[in-house]
Amino acid sequence: MVNESKIVIVGGVPGVGKTTVINKALELAKAEKMKINTIVFGSVMIEIASELFNIQDRDKLRKLPSDKQKIIQKEAAVRVAKQSWNRLTIVDTHYTIKTRTGKYLQGIPSWVSNALKPKILVIIETNPDDISKRRSIDNSRLRDEEALDLVKEHQEINRTSATTICQKTGALLAIIKNKQDLADEAGEKLFIYLKSV
Ligand code: ATP
Ligand code: MG
Repeated sequence: MVNESKIVIVGGVPGVGKTTVINKALELAKAEKMKINTIVFGSVMIEIASELFNIQDRDKLRKLPSDKQKIIQKEAAVRVAKQSWNRLTIVDTHYTIKTRTGKYLQGIPSWVSNALKPKILVIIETNPDDISKRRSIDNSRLRDEEALDLVKEHQEINRTSATTICQKTGALLAIIKNKQDLADEAGEKLFIYLKSV
């Protein structure tokens, strides 16, 4: 049997609703008895950050110096590739991460995309206003406040980043709008893409 990657990457700016939309798609998959593996890339990074740098909090992880984040990212890519091999897998992640000084760190540089060989890249988006509101009411996380034009910029950068990954890997690109109070709709779209893998 030929092994192949069946990875669907789901990315988007913090608080846009990636995990919410993924969970909606997983409910639909469960109803159809379809098995989908989900890996939160950041959680795998936290495991490694804890082993290497004694960091246990994901909101502290993204504030680490970028050279340390890259070391963690490389090892995480290897682990995620192993855990997802030949299984339909959603990787919940970020195309770019804003560092403490406002620079963008690539979430899926070549050493990650080469390890994962994704089939589809999904970008979850919505308007900056809604993102800002979602961040402010989400008490489960420590979220940074950000001006709307910077949220817009981050979404633009993510499109460029995802397109570049598709250019290198041949993965397909899809944009899903997670409109206010319509996460169900976004989840349905994601589920259709998952079924196509
Ligand atoms: P992170 O990158 O930090 O993991 P995320 O993109 O996974 O964030 P979620 O945790 O899924 O974002 O959602 C952030 C907040 O937005 C949550 O409080 C969630 O309930 C809310 N939310 C998600 N989708 C919608 C939607 N369509 N309408 C209204 N609120 C939403
Ligand atoms: Mg999430």
